[in-house]
Amino acid sequence: MKTRYLLFILILSVLSLFLVLKFYLTPESVTEIDKRDKTDTVIPLFQEANLPIGKVIIDPGHGGKEWGAVGWKSEVPEKEINLAIATYAKDYLENNHVEVAMTRYLDEMMDDKDLNADLTARAQFAEKIAADLFVSIHSDQFDKEIEGTRIFYSDKNPKVKESQILGEVIFDELISKLGSKPLGVKEENYRVLDQNTVPSVLIEVGFLSHPEEEMKLVDPAYQKKAGEAIAMGIIKYLKTNQRK
Ligand SMILES: [Zn+2]
Repeated sequence: MKTRYLLFILILSVLSLFLVLKFYLTPESVTEIDKRDKTDTVIPLFQEANLPIGKVIIDPGHGGKEWGAVGWKSEVPEKEINLAIATYAKDYLENNHVEVAMTRYLDEMMDDKDLNADLTARAQFAEKIAADLFVSIHSDQFDKEIEGTRIFYSDKNPKVKESQILGEVIFDELISKLGSKPLGVKEENYRVLDQNTVPSVLIEVGFLSHPEEEMKLVDPAYQKKAGEAIAMGIIKYLKTNQRK
């Protein structure tokens, strides 16, 4: 009986010693790391990096009953190409901390009452949501000899100088990424630009009437390249011309 009792005390003592040693021997650094990890999940160290660098409007030209131009060989309507390029631009911008609103996400007009009402609704959207800039995406048609990229801004827009700079920055990106013929950044009056209150441009990515350029414009790989080039131009503009 006495031996059993002694054995019980011995086991108890060994266990207690083990627990005490474990507590004291745990390195302090381990507990410190635990504490820091918990703090990090509450207050991210680099939260600022995730703040949006701007809010922009991407306007895929036409939509619904307004087809715009039509591919001379493929018969693909311009409205489809514009929406595809715009969506690639939107995805790239959102992945790079830019807030994006589109005037349409589907095959529809913004206001289907008539064309002028639709263009006015698109132009007034920027003021309504307090956007930093407005970019309208289109594809051109003329005759089968003409090809290339051109961008327009309006002198009726109150931000005419900023619009021109925005156009030039996007133009450089598009020409270098697409290798398309540079037709220039020009002044032209379009309702969607004239009635806007923020820096605004209208991009004609290429010509659906030019046989080779048409084949490029209907190709998703080319549409993605164009959308990303437009997005890169917008990001460059926001980083250098914003918040001065
Ligand atoms: Zn168009």
